[in-house]
Amino acid sequence: MARRESTPTTPGSRAVVVDLIRSPGPISRVELTAATGLTQPSISLIVRKLLSDGIVRETGLTASTGGKPRVLLEINGRALYGVGVQLGFESITLVATDVTGGVIGREQIDGAGLDKPEVVTQRIITAYHDFVRVLGIGTGTIAGVAVVAPGPIDQHDGVVLGPPTLRSWLDFGLRAALRAGIDVPVLVDNDAAAAAVGEFWSRRISRSSTFAGIYLGSGIGSGIVIDGALYRGHSSNAGEIGHISIEQDGVPCFCGNVGCLERYASPGAVVESARASAPDFAELGLAFEPTSVMRDFDLLCRAAVREVEPARALIETSAAQLASAAVTLSNLFDLDHIVLAGPGMAFAGSIYARAMRDRLARSAFSRRAHPIVVELSSNPRDSAAVGASALILQSTVAPGHGPLL
Ligand SMILES: [Zn+2]
Repeated sequence: MARRESTPTTPGSRAVVVDLIRSPGPISRVELTAATGLTQPSISLIVRKLLSDGIVRETGLTASTGGKPRVLLEINGRALYGVGVQLGFESITLVATDVTGGVIGREQIDGAGLDKPEVVTQRIITAYHDFVRVLGIGTGTIAGVAVVAPGPIDQHDGVVLGPPTLRSWLDFGLRAALRAGIDVPVLVDNDAAAAAVGEFWSRRISRSSTFAGIYLGSGIGSGIVIDGALYRGHSSNAGEIGHISIEQDGVPCFCGNVGCLERYASPGAVVESARASAPDFAELGLAFEPTSVMRDFDLLCRAAVREVEPARALIETSAAQLASAAVTLSNLFDLDHIVLAGPGMAFAGSIYARAMRDRLARSAFSRRAHPIVVELSSNPRDSAAVGASALILQSTVAPGHGPLL
């Protein structure tokens, strides 16, 4: 009986096939047919195109089970490269990855001057050209460049809409400015959303998972991956858990809401709490300068891990608040897998992960139906840059998942 199939090689079909080859690993055409419900000719057509594009390669045969051995397919990691750029308050990080998400190069440039978008754009363009030249990757093998910044952003036009740390970027057309100096596709996206895609992609998480990356940077954000694709909402500003109210009549937030999680649990808010009782933290050597927020937060985290009071109590409170928001996120999307990422997770990620696991095991609506895995990124500081690269690669090798370039 013929299977229902109107357009056998739509970008969506190709994305499904790429996902199945990417995770859980080498797979045969017969298994792909069974797993996708597509017809054998459709699978052959998609696989032939992926082979000719160089994205996929044949790798050995299945173990003999009596029948004819089948050719296995795997992702060809070195077929293409992506470049991710993470705009941070204190530095700008460039990362290049291969198709599997493996990092092949990293460069960090000074974030000074971040309040001047035109200057920063020129520095990114120069740094990009130097970076790919030193790595020896040619334009023909670069899928594109993705620049990620704290939201909100206008993903379609590549405009940064001005979070508090990037106020001068309000309405700056970053994508158009970068395109003038970079001869490959350029994408602008949210750092937390990118980090989620990066973790999903490089950890080879299955498309059957309902996955979230929770990101602790200067703010708090998240990205949700459903059926292998980032859930974008109407304007690519979904997953803003930092702006869930945890206090009905709480502190006003730049976003327009009041009592937002970010105003209590973000590095800036935690450092501000420490400053309010600065003498108690004297021995930690916190600078309390506008440009030292992440460094001060790191010092508090390191003290918290050593169980030094009152730093421990401050970080535990932030972790409990984030865990509470994770229950909300989980209940909305019925998550089964969460990865914690972002520079804020670099030192005390284990405290945040433990608080979240305990809270989800106690309070998640779905806890009796299935467990929710909570893991830490293996590279929390660079996770948004790695994710940016994954976004651009996913748009190229599995179109139908990502934004069109
Ligand atoms: Zn807010």
